[in-house]
Amino acid sequence: MGNVLAFCEFQGDALRTSALANLAFARSAAQAHGGEVIILLVGQGAQAASANAAKYAPKVVVVEDAKLEHYLAETYAPVLARLAKENNASVVTATATAVGKDVMPRVAALLDAGMASDIAKLDGNNKFVRPILAGNAYSTVEIATPVICVTVRQSEFEPAGELGSAGSVSSAAAGDIDALGAAFDHLDAQKSDRPDLGDAKVVVSGGRGMKSGENFKVLEELADLLGAAMGASRAATDAGMVPADWQVGQTGKIVAPNLYFAVAISGAIQHLAGMKGSKTIVAINKNKDEPIFQVADYGVVAEWEKAVPELISEIKKLKASR
Ligand SMILES: Cc1cc2nc3c(=O)[nH]c(=O)nc-3n(C[C@H](O)[C@H](O)[C@H](O)COP(=O)(O)OP(=O)(O)OC[C@H]3O[C@@H](n4cnc5c(N)ncnc54)[C@H](O)[C@@H]3O)c2cc1C
Repeated sequence: MGNVLAFCEFQGDALRTSALANLAFARSAAQAHGGEVIILLVGQGAQAASANAAKYAPKVVVVEDAKLEHYLAETYAPVLARLAKENNASVVTATATAVGKDVMPRVAALLDAGMASDIAKLDGNNKFVRPILAGNAYSTVEIATPVICVTVRQSEFEPAGELGSAGSVSSAAAGDIDALGAAFDHLDAQKSDRPDLGDAKVVVSGGRGMKSGENFKVLEELADLLGAAMGASRAATDAGMVPADWQVGQTGKIVAPNLYFAVAISGAIQHLAGMKGSKTIVAINKNKDEPIFQVADYGVVAEWEKAVPELISEIKKLKASR
C-alpha cells in the first residue's frame, strides 16, 4: 500500500503532453498499490501550472523556490526524494524525457529504491515491461525494494484524460538542499517558436537524403504550415545538417505524435525505435524497398525535391479554401 508520486514537467500554465503519459502509468500503478496519484510540480512557474495539473489527479504538491529556478538533477533529486517519503510514496515516476532520465536514477539512489527505466507496461505491481535491443524485444524486470522509481516511455501510454473534479493543491518548501557542489551556470538553448519535439502532435523529420542543412528549409516550411516540430535522423544530425537535439531514435528523442513525416529517411531500426509509436506515419523516399515503408501508413515513392513542394502547395490550397 502506497501512493504514486508523479513528477510532472510543465510549460507555461499547463502540464507538458509528455507528462500525461506519466500520469496514465501513475494511475495504473496507484490502482495496483492501493494508493492515490500525487502530482509533483517543481521549479519556476510550478504554481501557475498547478490549476491545470489538478484536473488530472486528486492531489498536487507544488515546490517553487529560487533555489530551484533552473533545473539541475543535483538540486531536484533531494526534493523529489524527500517528498516521496513525506507523501508515503511506494512508486515515484517521471516521463523518460531528458530531465526524467537525468533525475530519476539519483532519486532512486537517495531512496535506496530499485529503478525501472523507460518502461512500456506495468505487469502486476512490481514487474515492468521495457523495450531492449532498440525496441526489437521486450524484457520484464521485477523490483523487490519497498520503493520503486520508474521512468515511463511516452510513446507506450495513451495520454491520461482529465478527471471529473479538480484535485487539491498544496505547497511544500524546498528545504535544505545539498547540491554536492553543483551550481547552475548558464543554459545554451535553441530558441524556436515550434512545439517541443517530445510534445508535438505533428513531427516532420528529414534524413541523410536531404543532402544539406539548406535543403531542410523546405521541410521547415512544411512543418510551419502544420504547426509541427522538426526532427531528423542521426545521419542528418551527425553530418551537421541540423541541430543535434532534433535527433529522433534510440539515442535521440522518443516521439509519439499523431502524424510523423519521414522524408529521405531509410528507416534503420535505431530510427524506428524513436518514432514507430506514432499514430500515422507518412514516408517519402525515392527507393521503394527501404524499411521505412514497412512501418508507414502512407508511402510516397518519389524524390523529396518533387513530392514535398507539391505537398506544401496542396496544403496551402486547402488552407486558402477554408
Ligand atoms: C548505437 C546506434 C545508435 C543509433 N541511434 C540512432 C538514432 O537515435 N536515430 C537515428 O536516426 N539513427 C540512429 N543510428 C543510426 C542508424 O543506424 C542509421 O545509420 C541512420 O538512422 C540512417 O539515417 P538516414 O535514414 O537519414 O540515412 P540513410 O540510411 O543513408 O538513408 C537515406 C535515405 O534517403 C533516401 N533518399 C536519398 N535521396 C533522396 C531523395 N532525393 N528523395 C527521397 N529520398 C531520398 C534514400 O533512399 C535513403 O533511404 C544509430 C546507430 C547506432 C549504431
